[in-house]
Amino acid sequence: MSKGADGQGYSFVICYLLIVIYIAFPLHNCYYVLMNIIVLVKQVPDTQNISGEAMTPEGTVNRAALPAVFNPDDLYALEAALQIKDANPEIKVNVITMGPPSAAAVLKECLYRGADFTALVSDRGFAGADTLATSYALKCAINKIGNFDLVLCGRQAIDGDTAQVGPQTAEKLGINQITCVSKIEAINSAKKEITAIRSIEGGWEKVKAKLPVLVTFNAEGEMPRPASAIKTMTFKRTVPVSDAGSPNDPAGFVEKSDDGNKAAKAMALWNIPAINADPLQCGLAGSPTKVKFINSVVLTAADIRYIDPGEAGITDLIHGLIADHTFG
Ligand code: FAD
Repeated sequence: MSKGADGQGYSFVICYLLIVIYIAFPLHNCYYVLMNIIVLVKQVPDTQNISGEAMTPEGTVNRAALPAVFNPDDLYALEAALQIKDANPEIKVNVITMGPPSAAAVLKECLYRGADFTALVSDRGFAGADTLATSYALKCAINKIGNFDLVLCGRQAIDGDTAQVGPQTAEKLGINQITCVSKIEAINSAKKEITAIRSIEGGWEKVKAKLPVLVTFNAEGEMPRPASAIKTMTFKRTVPVSDAGSPNDPAGFVEKSDDGNKAAKAMALWNIPAINADPLQCGLAGSPTKVKFINSVVLTAADIRYIDPGEAGITDLIHGLIADHTFG
């Protein structure tokens, strides 16, 4: 009799613990197997803090007047990856950027926040890349890491502003994509399925997709975490090294420092041959887009006019806009 009562007591405690674990687990309804996450980040000129003319007379970006920053949307993609890793520390967060040597600064920021491995894809042959050539190079770099379930990136970069690189990269990888996401709600490894919340005009949309999937993030997600002081100390001297290899290729993934310090292998430098890319599809050679002219538009609101919302008011407004050549 008392044995049966004890058994019931144990069952009750186990049920209680399972409920507590279910409620406390940050991404409910999901459990994971080992997963590789790849995040794409871009270093961009800070178009929100212009300290001079944003464009040169030749129509190129005046980089001296625009300090370089971490593309804002990409911080949200990184945060989403790190939150998945927080819940499952065995998951590896790998970050890739394509850019000049100075772009290593954004990769360091990722290491300071908790990324495991970063790769700077850099070669003179990548210069002048449009979105097609950029997504091609990123696809090659992603394939070098390999074994990925999730590729996360920003919805759009604040310099080019095209929002094309994420979808084009997914297309080149031949995987599903979910764009303009504010939150990953659940990942079900058993079903190899992700549920994400997308922002759409006037509301949100819940979307499910099969892994592997590329997700582009907007700035409505979880607030990106600050850099960790300990990780900053660990990685502050990390520099890109061409023989760092890839996390998927332990033979080529060498310890550089004498003491086997993990910081030494956390940032790889990959050129065109390192990612097995075709030089003709990279940089200017692989870019069908030609920017012919850039017009710097400064919007000024000199005065405010209230328009009667009736037919007469709107007709009047249209005639006015045609007369001052805003239309036509
Ligand atoms: P987006 O597609 O807006 O970026 C989306 C996300 O993709 C980013 O948040 C980031 O996560 C990821 N990503 C983008 N670039 C990289 C990268 N280098 N490394 C890692 N992740 C990355 N290109 C065209 O094809 N057509 C044009 O008309 C055009 N016009 C331009 C006009 C101006 C003024 C400028 C400055 C550039 C223009 N470009 C154009 C070039 C284009 O900006 C670059 O090709 C750029 O590398 C990718 O486009 P994006 O910045 O619009 O990226």
